[in-house]
This record gives sequence, C-alpha cells and structure tokens, in this order.
Amino acid sequence: MLISIEEGRRRVLEAVRPLAAERVALADARGRVLAEDVTSAIDVPPFDSSAMDGYALVAGPARQLALAGESRAGHPHEPELEQGTAVRISTGAAVPRGATAVIPVERTIETDGRVEVEETAEGANIRRAGEDMRAGDVVLARGTLLGPAELGVAASVGRAELECARRPRVSLLVTGDELVEPGHPLGPGQIYSSNGFALAGQITAAGAELVRRASVPDSAEATHAAIEQALFRADVLIASGGVSIGPHDHVKGALRELGVEERFWGVSLRPGKPTWFGTRADVLAFGLPGNPVSAMVTFQLFVRPALAALQGADPAAARARATLDEAVERNPKREQAVRVRLTHADDGLHALTTGEQGSHMLTSMLGADGLALVAAGDGEVAAGERVEVLLL
Ligand code: AMP
Ligand code: MG
Repeated sequence: MLISIEEGRRRVLEAVRPLAAERVALADARGRVLAEDVTSAIDVPPFDSSAMDGYALVAGPARQLALAGESRAGHPHEPELEQGTAVRISTGAAVPRGATAVIPVERTIETDGRVEVEETAEGANIRRAGEDMRAGDVVLARGTLLGPAELGVAASVGRAELECARRPRVSLLVTGDELVEPGHPLGPGQIYSSNGFALAGQITAAGAELVRRASVPDSAEATHAAIEQALFRADVLIASGGVSIGPHDHVKGALRELGVEERFWGVSLRPGKPTWFGTRADVLAFGLPGNPVSAMVTFQLFVRPALAALQGADPAAARARATLDEAVERNPKREQAVRVRLTHADDGLHALTTGEQGSHMLTSMLGADGLALVAAGDGEVAAGERVEVLLL
C-alpha cells in the first residue's frame, strides 16, 4: 500500500526525538538552531546616543553657545551640560546629561570656541536607550535558525555563547555495483556516483554533520556490514539505492536484520516511490531510491524535515502558490514533485518546469527553485492553473 507524501512526513516527524542542547561559541553558531530563548540582560543601545555628528545641546531657538567639550564614541563627556553651552558629539557617542537634542554639524558654524546653531526640536537626533532591544526582552526565540542577523543580535546583547541543538550525526551509504567515484576511469556498464555528493550537500545544508560515508556493493553481506557500521553512533542513516524489489536490492533486508523497524515503504510519489523509512530506538533510517533525482527529491520531502525537527526547528518547508506557465501531464496514480523555476510577475509567482522530468535527469535539479506538487489524476494541469510549490 502506497502512502501519501503527507502521511510519510507525518510518520517521520512522529518518530523524531529532538536532540540535546550544547553550548556553542557565537563564532561557530551560524546555521545552528537555538535551543533557548535569548533574553537580553541590557538595553540596546545601552545609553542615549547621538544619531549624527554634531553638537549636543538643550533644544531651543537659534542662538550662540559656548563649546564645553566633546563626547566621542567610546569616550563620553562626563559632566552635565551647563546652561548656554554645547558639546561636540560624534555618531554613537553618549549624549551628555542635561542635553535634550543633537544638532547636525551641517546646521552649525563653529568659530573660536563658540558655535552658532539653528533651531532644534526636543529629542532631535537622539537614539534612546533600549530603542532597539530592552533588558528583559526575548530577542531570539528557541527554534530559530541562526543566520547573520541573529548572530548580530546575540552579540549586541553581549552573548558570547548560545545554547544550540546538537547537530544531527548522519551516516550516508550509497549502494550499487555500477558506481565509480569521480576521478577514476569508468569501466563497461559503470557510472559515476552522484548521490554521495548531492546528498552530502543536502545533509550539510540542513545543518547536520556527515559523520560517515561509504559506497557499498550489491551484496547482502556487504550491505549488512556497512549498515551495521553506519548505525553506530548515528542519529540518522541514509542509504541510497537498493530499496526496490530486485534480486540485488539488499538494503531493506539488512535494515530489518539489524533491528530497524519499518515505518513505511512506498510513497505515492513520482519520483520517489520506493522510499523506505524505519527506526531503531531513536535512530532514523531512510532508504532513498537510487535514481539521482528521486534521491534528492525524497531527501527534501522526508529527510530535511526530520533533520530540522531533530534540531527543534520548524520542519515545514516554505510554500508558495504559483501560476503554471506550461501544461503538466498528471500521473494517474501518483502525486508528482515537478522541479520548477519561479519568476515574479505583476500577478504573482509563475512556474516553468526545468525541462525533462525523468528521475534519472539530474540536470532537472539545476536552477530549480521549488517542487510543484501535482496531485494524481487524469489529463493535465493546464497552463494558467495555480499549483502549490515547496521552495527549495
Ligand atoms: P536502485 O535504486 O539501486 O535500483 O537504482 C536506481 C537507478 O539509480 C539506477 O539506474 C542506478 O544506477 C542509479 N543510481 C543508484 N545509485 C546511484 C548513485 N549513487 N549515483 C548515481 N546514480 C545512482
Ligand atoms: Mg542499485
């Protein structure tokens, strides 16, 4: 019985036990998922500061003031501002006590220790303490993927380390007697193994750590031995190829022998029908089809959400609706994941297929922005109809 993509994903996510947290230095935290709410201990900015190079003064009409010193970034002017005076101030410098505005240098004339100023309004050009973040605010929520902006925010509240989810440890096996590693000559009937590289890229892009990688011939013994090793200290095992029903497909048998319990085998999906998923204790094991496009698509649909959920992040892929700019033939039995390129137009997103969609046509992944999900049925989805797209 084939299950739907939705049901497959549900069974995968149901099996996920989120990984423990660990402290990570801020410099190493890009791409990690936060395992704590980050609460600011300080106001940011920490003090009232100037938004301009100019003069700090008491707001009021145009007049002449005596220059009483300077407040530079990192070097505040400590004394309180006195009546009838102004203090030269640079952007980011602390506004002296008693000052109620900053006038930009362009609106002043300084001569011989005196400065002529134009009219200024109360509060002009002052950035207030806590205007960006306040002490006590949760500035980053648990489950957030840490990108450059998040690292900047963490740094600006003084955090040198963050509690992050441990990276999932992934073992990757590619199976097939026909496979040759790039860099070696091809013999008769051989092909270069692309899945090891494409899947490794997807694994690390999903924030996981590739801890083991092996190429396995199509023998029951070798497959058993390789899977046994690969399961050791891994959170996730991914095998590509050898999950169909041919006499040389040994992955499912080996997984079962090693105590990995099947949770599903077979998804009503094109490409990717023979996808297998099982668990042994907390270890998640995926048998992905060997066809290069099927392997990448099923990784995206089933493995990537698992890797996100293991790290406590939202497993849902970003989705969009797009207008198809060409007709797509429906498959009578299976939902299709069609690789599309997206463009923006005045009436929203438009999708065009990346060309031939065979599961062996790896070039169909090049430049793909998303997977358009086309439900099973008769006939075609006509050009101009709207489709749901999972963004890559
Ligand atoms: P399988 O799922 O093992 O029956 O393989 C299906 C198809 O995918 C066959 O044409 C294989 O040669 C091909 N294939 C399997 N593994 C890889 C790989 N690592 N790189 C490229 N093609 C592969
Ligand atoms: Mg094979």
